[in-house]
Amino acid sequence: MSNQRPLPKPDQDSLAYWEGARRHELLLQQCGSCQRFRFYPRSLCPHCFSEKFEWRKSAGLGSVYSFTVIHRAPFPAFREKVPYVLALIELNEGVRMMTNIVGCDPNMVEIGMPVEVTFEDLNEEITLPQFKPAKAS
Ligand code: ZN
Repeated sequence: MSNQRPLPKPDQDSLAYWEGARRHELLLQQCGSCQRFRFYPRSLCPHCFSEKFEWRKSAGLGSVYSFTVIHRAPFPAFREKVPYVLALIELNEGVRMMTNIVGCDPNMVEIGMPVEVTFEDLNEEITLPQFKPAKAS
């Protein structure tokens, strides 16, 4: 297996999402019929099956819904990253995203912890939205 980190491959549904990430904006689709947000990007609303939607910029704020600490790298390219946090984040817009929590000791992560989006530029095309503990306001 290669030492290359596996990278997301934007497709027709997710292209705008990845272009937003490159500008350090977290974009979500909002249904034009029922107004609910959804994630991951797809062409039909999972709630009402409408094809109408708009891309909206998320505030990038949410909380930890669930998480696990990864101690064994799933790919050789992740060996230097363990231990790291794989988490399900619930954004304030009501959608959940599978992501990593970075910028803190994995042992301090807990369910309900407030988090905010942060962006890691992996290369010229792909920027990965991740989350870090939210600054106390
Ligand atoms: Zn809908």
